[in-house]
Amino acid sequence: MDVVEISSQRRRQLIDITRFVQEAVAGSEVSEGLCVVYVPHTTAAVTLNENADPAVGDDLLEAWAALVPAIRWRHAEGNSDAHLLSSLIGASVTVPVSEGELALGRWQAIFLVELDGPRRREVWVSCLRA
Ligand code: ZN
Repeated sequence: MDVVEISSQRRRQLIDITRFVQEAVAGSEVSEGLCVVYVPHTTAAVTLNENADPAVGDDLLEAWAALVPAIRWRHAEGNSDAHLLSSLIGASVTVPVSEGELALGRWQAIFLVELDGPRRREVWVSCLRA
């Protein structure tokens, strides 16, 4: 497993980590298989989406913020919105590996989703041979 360390700059932020994951795939020497990208955090997430137009990421962040209900949160740390979105978006994605490369769609990139930054985050990348 490779550990990629990322520092976020804002409370909520999408960070394109595709190149770091591809480096981990290259280092794993897996040519055909699966790559699991996982964040060991409860206020961050990982997702696949478009990186060509940065407005897509801005729209996602605004839409996710709009999903947070105005309820009385009990968690004293005050970041239950981040915990909620972490669960909704998810802590991992799995991407096929073909010929030693991430088999992403033309418009797809892998994003770390920061939901309670700025913080130092880890992304754990595991490559499995098929
Ligand atoms: Zn918390």
